Amino acid sequence: MFKTINSVCPKDCFGSCSLAVDVEKGKIIKVRGNRNSPVHQGRICTKGMHYPNMLYSPERLLYPLQRIGKRGDGKFKRISWEQTVDIIYEKLKNLKEQYGPESVLYYNRFANLGVAKNCAYSFWYQFGGFTSTYGGLCDAAGQEAIILTYGEIKHNKISDLENSKLIILWGSNPAYTNIHLMHHVNKAVDKGAKLITIDIRENESGTKSHLCLNPRPGTDGCLALGIASQLIKNNIIDDNFIDRHTFGFAEFKELVKDYPLEKVSAITEISIGKIKSLINYLKENPRYALICGIGVQRYTNSGQAIRAISLLPALTGSIGKKGCGFYFSDRQAPELNWPFFPPKPKRIRNSIAAAKLASELHNQTDPPVKAVWIEQANPMTSNPNTNLLAQAMTQLDFIVAVDLFLTDTARMADIILPAASMYEYYDLITGYGHSYIQLQQKMIEPPGECKHESEIYRLLGKKFDFNLDYLPENNLITMEKVINSSNLNTDVDELKRKPYLY
Ligand code: SF4
Repeated sequence: MFKTINSVCPKDCFGSCSLAVDVEKGKIIKVRGNRNSPVHQGRICTKGMHYPNMLYSPERLLYPLQRIGKRGDGKFKRISWEQTVDIIYEKLKNLKEQYGPESVLYYNRFANLGVAKNCAYSFWYQFGGFTSTYGGLCDAAGQEAIILTYGEIKHNKISDLENSKLIILWGSNPAYTNIHLMHHVNKAVDKGAKLITIDIRENESGTKSHLCLNPRPGTDGCLALGIASQLIKNNIIDDNFIDRHTFGFAEFKELVKDYPLEKVSAITEISIGKIKSLINYLKENPRYALICGIGVQRYTNSGQAIRAISLLPALTGSIGKKGCGFYFSDRQAPELNWPFFPPKPKRIRNSIAAAKLASELHNQTDPPVKAVWIEQANPMTSNPNTNLLAQAMTQLDFIVAVDLFLTDTARMADIILPAASMYEYYDLITGYGHSYIQLQQKMIEPPGECKHESEIYRLLGKKFDFNLDYLPENNLITMEKVINSSNLNTDVDELKRKPYLY
């Protein structure tokens, strides 16, 4: 007989879906959406449903591995955890003594979200420092742009989209990337809302759209300024809202005069007729929701493009009301506090932009980067300029990769540590598609000799004689301490039953 355990999908995804997982005799037999979840109501993507395939894949790494061939050849031998810890300890200790702690780059991205990944800093702070990256590969420019424009990143609940009369999807394809938001977009359209899609291609979310604009890549900012120019010129603006809630409008009005229809049409390669049609929709529905995707901000200066796009709803007073607003990501849930940080060492060098890892890895001096520890990341496939990155990594003295599979990055490593999957450890998840906090439950033991990072760092911490109070075990007591220190009005028992809305 199986039992069903509530959990959450921690993938770096707008969904942060509530899961109902059937477990029988220590094995996961089925993953479904949790029908009792207020935000998801049982919906998850097909990838989520098929996680057991990943979990029990014959290709999953089950033991620590040491490189035996040339770097990148993918030849490894199995070693014990004891040998693994000894090798890593010797390497890190020697590098720290010879070059300083900054000679080690700690590189961590977002394979999984969650507060428990902070256990890494509990180790690296005690190590005395490290080199780290800054910025991100994903949405950092857009976030910064919105904070500069609005002060904070927030929007109405995604279910409020059902109150919209007009929805604009700008560089966003939620049918593929944000299924819960798309659910509400579809419901709004079924109730008669108009849908406009703006994207460099006709995307899957736009199948029901009433108007589709395909700007030349990288010209979204120009299009936004052109639309603003037409709205102001044709007096389709909310003077009262602008007076009360904005500043700098006079300068903005002057700026957008530089973006007449003809010029915008020539730059964006969208016909004047289509731009006029969009203006007409806005004239008929000045209160609307604009959903902006993340891809829009992945061009040079595109933080400014996001600022221009985000201003459009404000021009017509379409902010802070039902069915309205500018949607980018939902950052309203509080950041959870990790109460196990040791004192922060001075020798943390934030010197490499994440997107420039390939070109900057070997430009570090005093000390140079000699070793890289990579977890929750696969930069050999997800970072720009992977050929250059491969060259840079080949020259390193030592690479440790923590992963579930022999990824392109793990292939480059000297030591590969087999990681626990999302069903094999506890965590607390706040996402960016909604404001709920959810408990990720450990429901099975990791297979083979796989370990969660907290256990890996505890093993190493013991070897380094670090204070293990900062490196707690991954269990519900640790989660309860996180909840208490984050001042949440909930507890582990409640979170086992349902998500918590802050
Ligand atoms: S939609 Fe995202 S969060 Fe939900 S199950 Fe799929 S990958 Fe996980």
